[in-house]
Amino acid sequence: MNSEARILEPGQLEAPAGEIPFLRLPDIRTVFSRRATRFRHLAQGHPLGGFLTLLGALSDAQQAELDMFPEVPLPSADALDLARQHGLPPLGVHMWQRDPAWRNTYTGLLRRLENYVLPDDTRRLLDELTYPDADWLEHQADLLLNSEYASQDARMTPFVAAALQTYWVHMVQSLGAAAFDRIESASLCPACGQRPVASVLYGGGVDTGLRYLHCSLCATEWHMVRAKCSNCESTKGISYFELEGGNGAIKAEACDACNTYLKVLYLARDFESEPCADDCASLGLDILLDESGKQRSGPNLYLHPGSL
Ligand code: FE
Ligand code: FE
Repeated sequence: MNSEARILEPGQLEAPAGEIPFLRLPDIRTVFSRRATRFRHLAQGHPLGGFLTLLGALSDAQQAELDMFPEVPLPSADALDLARQHGLPPLGVHMWQRDPAWRNTYTGLLRRLENYVLPDDTRRLLDELTYPDADWLEHQADLLLNSEYASQDARMTPFVAAALQTYWVHMVQSLGAAAFDRIESASLCPACGQRPVASVLYGGGVDTGLRYLHCSLCATEWHMVRAKCSNCESTKGISYFELEGGNGAIKAEACDACNTYLKVLYLARDFESEPCADDCASLGLDILLDESGKQRSGPNLYLHPGSL
């Protein structure tokens, strides 16, 4: 493992904060189809190739479900004002009353997977999971969004996550960027309050060198200067870890102050990287960081810890 430690001052290497767009909303036309393409690319020759291929098919299904997502209730103008006044995310996962539409998306995703060539045992599993009891499904969603992994049905995790992501991306895009503002915690998504799956360091055009955190649920990205720990905002004791032989496109940014890490994608090294897919395909990095006693600061919702 290579390790490189450095300390940057906030704002170093970046334009003044006022010139940097705070939010980057997901592009609903491509958010999941791009992820699907990336999963398929990463699956080639990968030890977890079968699982990554399944997640590629699932991402394709998410795009198809997103393209036909029905209109659903959204926060009112008053609710948006109230959230802004209190520094809270308007679509916060712990406050927002989920519309039952997301449960139809869950079943829709599994039915779409019937069209893919999958191993027999996967196909049998999907048959078992396609029509769950509504209360059970809502319970699984609560567990997932609260990161309560022990009592989750791990077999359902990727599909519950995929349905919730589709629903939240739809809501975020329906509201538009003007609905969201900075919230009290800089380490949580300003739209939905979830933790990021990874950081993305942009490498092209006016965005060069800017770091955004990518929401594990709604794929919204919010700006944070590179010099800080994305979890506790400490500016000291930040180190970077990379797998031996890596091409520098993905590293783990670890913080001594809060003893956590989160991966960083360097788009200048590989502009096709996608946070959820590249995070899944780099579990070797998680194993190394785990061995050094660091905890992940944000989840990958497709993955149930301990089931791989
Ligand atoms: Fe979010
Ligand atoms: Fe930290």
